[in-house]
Amino acid sequence: MSLRQKILDRMEKLGLEPKRSLGQNFLISEVVVDRIIEACEFNRFEKVIEIGPGLGALTDPLIEGSARLTLMELDSHFSQYWREERSQEVIEGDALQFDWANYTWGSSLLVSNLPYQISSRLVVELSLLPQSFDRMVLMFQKEVAKRILAQPRTQDYGLLTVVSQNFWEVKAVLEAGAIDFFPKPNVASRVVCLDRKEVEPLFCRPDYLNFLKNCFQQKRKKMINKLSVYGKERVAKAYEDLGWSPDLRVDTLSPNDFKGLYRLLQE
Ligand code: SAH
Repeated sequence: MSLRQKILDRMEKLGLEPKRSLGQNFLISEVVVDRIIEACEFNRFEKVIEIGPGLGALTDPLIEGSARLTLMELDSHFSQYWREERSQEVIEGDALQFDWANYTWGSSLLVSNLPYQISSRLVVELSLLPQSFDRMVLMFQKEVAKRILAQPRTQDYGLLTVVSQNFWEVKAVLEAGAIDFFPKPNVASRVVCLDRKEVEPLFCRPDYLNFLKNCFQQKRKKMINKLSVYGKERVAKAYEDLGWSPDLRVDTLSPNDFKGLYRLLQE
């Protein structure tokens, strides 16, 4: 039976309709599912979390491959199905409300065809944690994926780029089109693999995020104009140490440059 048929049958059996408000666009493409599962290498990890299993296009192969799986699902119909009919460990709730800071990590993988409404916020939140997933394989709306993967001096380059690339090695896995989903979304999608980097606690502070937010308010402005709170002398010294010209614009700095500057400004 095709994946499409399996998903449609399961939906009918459960008597459910896709809910747009919960970003429910179900994967129905075997090729896309296979590529995501392959990118996960899920047997390397002690724990695997899937956010939003829905009708299970990704969940079934994870279970078949004996992944040590925990599911996190906001829709009670689905959480009930996975818990009661499929005997899986399910956390019913909103992934954005989950207390990630107190999660017991171990080596862990996150995989999700993310509901579009929560994707950038979730990535930022999981990035800033002192401990986080070792790998995340996530399906994004293409525009969001482009921001995560962007280079300096481009339109897509911004806060989400710098946060993602400061905390993760990012790599595009594949593109998915509207026909790979039911119902068809209005946008194209892209899967990105994020592997955790070594992270210093300094950059996990909310203050670092606020610093970046402030920098990217108007990213074509000169960086130096964003730094008045740190005092003229300290900024001048940092620029001198970095060998930077005072004319540098925010969007020309690399993700690493933001870290280097922030570190010097704390001294
Ligand atoms: N993984 C499935 C379903 C993807 S649709 C597939 O690829 O086919 C998105 C899923 O996320 C749905 O099951 C939806 O109910 C769930 N979801 C939506 N918002 C959520 C949230 N805030 N926290 C956890 N799950 C959520």
